[in-house]
Amino acid sequence: METISFFDGRKIPLERHKVRIVQKLNLLPVEERLVRIKEASNNLYLLRNKDIFLDMLSDSGVNAMSDRQQAAMMQADDAYAGSESFFRLERTVRDIFGMDHFLPAHQGRGCEKVIADLLVKPGDIVPMNYHFTTSKAHIVRCGGEVVELLLPEGLVCQSNNPFKGDLDTKALAKLLEKYKGRVPFVRVEAGTNLIGGQPFSFDNLKETSAICRKHDVPLVMDASLLQDNLYFLKMRDEECKDLSIREIMRAVCDQCDIIYFSARKLGFARGGGICMRESELVDPLKELIVLNEGFLTYGGMSVREIEAIAVGLEETMDLSVISQGPEFIAYMVAELEKRGVPVVTPAGGLGCHLDASRFVPHIPQEQYPAAALAVATYIAGGIRGMERGTLSESRDADGNETLAEMELLRLAMPRRVFTMSQIDYAIDRVTWLYENRDLIGGLCFEHEPKILRFFLGKLAPLSDWQEKLTEKFSRDLSNSL
Ligand SMILES: *Cc1c(COP(=O)(O)O)cnc(C)c1O
Repeated sequence: METISFFDGRKIPLERHKVRIVQKLNLLPVEERLVRIKEASNNLYLLRNKDIFLDMLSDSGVNAMSDRQQAAMMQADDAYAGSESFFRLERTVRDIFGMDHFLPAHQGRGCEKVIADLLVKPGDIVPMNYHFTTSKAHIVRCGGEVVELLLPEGLVCQSNNPFKGDLDTKALAKLLEKYKGRVPFVRVEAGTNLIGGQPFSFDNLKETSAICRKHDVPLVMDASLLQDNLYFLKMRDEECKDLSIREIMRAVCDQCDIIYFSARKLGFARGGGICMRESELVDPLKELIVLNEGFLTYGGMSVREIEAIAVGLEETMDLSVISQGPEFIAYMVAELEKRGVPVVTPAGGLGCHLDASRFVPHIPQEQYPAAALAVATYIAGGIRGMERGTLSESRDADGNETLAEMELLRLAMPRRVFTMSQIDYAIDRVTWLYENRDLIGGLCFEHEPKILRFFLGKLAPLSDWQEKLTEKFSRDLSNSL
């Protein structure tokens, strides 16, 4: 085992890399942070990056690259067709995933679009452990319906279940029986994003796969967050603990028929692609890639990114590389828990998730508690998180709010980007905010877009709570920004 313990017993994640390129950050005074968030209409997507100290919005396209990735990008082979860079990536994918075909796409949602276009027709049902925003949007766009079969534990915020991403296989077997001919594929998501980066277990994947094969329905894996899931299989799953990451990867891939991923996450770069075995689906999918993404040897990606993905996927097979994200997240979750701050447990991949329903229980869901907490976290620390609650849902056909099953503020941990003291700072500011949580109030829409309203919506506070929070911060931390 490759873990490193401190002699004095402390549990501190140790960076297994050194930092050789840096970017200067700005930390604005709290009064200026208040001005900036008002200018951004209380929507963190509308902030400018220069006004943010720790950008914990997402892990997408913002992970640190290695020296070997940067070097590979310098010798990329630019060509509309037949680029050597593509063949290098294809070879790597074959070797690591054990699948013969690799179809490139510009990012994860490009893969989702072509898969849905080919396979989903009106009236179809797509079962899955849990939805992701873009995955669901494409299935629904093609007239399909998403049915979530997550085991109930998956939605319990505080839990010690190590595999909250597991799918209810009994329910899946029943569903495939009942809707024979209406299920074009089953989707499993690795490192289940919207429930807090939670993994599936190997046994659960095997059972899911066996049921799919019995019913002759393809199993499609969304592998965007697979690197975290691989780490958790190694650390938490009896069946995998003696296998190398490469062996676990192969065992996981062997259970699936089609695997797609966002290389903005898996592979530490930007781009995406679909891996598949020989089947009658390969040729029609290739045609859709050419139509929507680009020629088969670039798929909308720059050749430099293609080189970076090839190296990044190789590096993903190294436990000391992929352990960095989950170890930092586990540290942050444990420290916040110690201080009584409500967080999603066990710690997952992707980021640390604050449970807004317990952080600010006085704010009703109709006043977007997780979004209010996101705004307050920016005021308290110049930290940008992402709301994953009712604001991220859309209204139903009658215009009523769809209340989210979980009200979370995700503080994403871009991989190998932040240092320990920056994480300690985030823990400190969140703890201050928790001590002052009664000052946080709700939000309402001033301008509400019809589609994906969280991206471009404009919001306003329901009272002068932001001024009061800023004043309290200035009093409590009078010598600090
Ligand atoms: C990010 C993500 C996607 C979409 O990928 P993009 O590259 O952002 O288009 C799909 N599924 C999951 C689970 C993701 O995390």
